[in-house]
Amino acid sequence: MIAKDIGFLMKRHNFRETSVIASFYTKKFGKITGILKGFYTPKKEFSSNLDIFTLNELVFYPKKSDIWLVSFVDLVRDYAFLRKNIKAATAASVFINLTDKALGAWDKNAEVFNLIKEALSFLEKEDTHRVLYVFLVKFLTLSGFKPEFGKCLNCHKPIDEETFFSVLRGGLICKKCSNKEHDLRRIGRETIASIFYMQNNDFIIALRLNPTEECEKEILFILREFLCYHLEFDILPMSS
Ligand SMILES: [Zn+2]
Repeated sequence: MIAKDIGFLMKRHNFRETSVIASFYTKKFGKITGILKGFYTPKKEFSSNLDIFTLNELVFYPKKSDIWLVSFVDLVRDYAFLRKNIKAATAASVFINLTDKALGAWDKNAEVFNLIKEALSFLEKEDTHRVLYVFLVKFLTLSGFKPEFGKCLNCHKPIDEETFFSVLRGGLICKKCSNKEHDLRRIGRETIASIFYMQNNDFIIALRLNPTEECEKEILFILREFLCYHLEFDILPMSS
């Protein structure tokens, strides 16, 4: 079988004298790893440089083994602006590395693919922190780790005045239920409303949120704690 797809370069390393082994997050196959034999020889089949932050068209041969043969690669889009903006590049690395960490090989998820595509484009014009936390909230939903921000995890009642967040259980705990839980952290109403809004609106609408500085810090803090605990992934360089 021969297949054609598009994919974001995740990582690559040289193999022997002239070949490259690279991982891609593809639209139809999820994360794949392939060998590009003779990548450093003048071959017309390999017209993409496979730079970081590029979307490429690929032709490959899916099989049961871990490394597939990639016979063709062409550049579809180069997010070159990221190579001149360290802050945006750090956020883009979070998108790629988190996807790599949270999703296994061939764990296909076209919605995650589209989310990465959307988020990388927004980094060109929109506020970097905002694009980052909207991405994280949406990624958690699409990858099956969605924290509960609509109601109390215990009694399922709508949240009241004083509300807590449980990193361990992954969601909100109301004041009445709080004495039965450990390791809770008080969470502001604006933060709850903002994350709930991001979970339930399209990326472009969610970007219109304009939280206070304090709320933005809390959003990033909560997401960071959640990702560290449930996915062992740290966004440290971006959280301050
Ligand atoms: Zn409750």
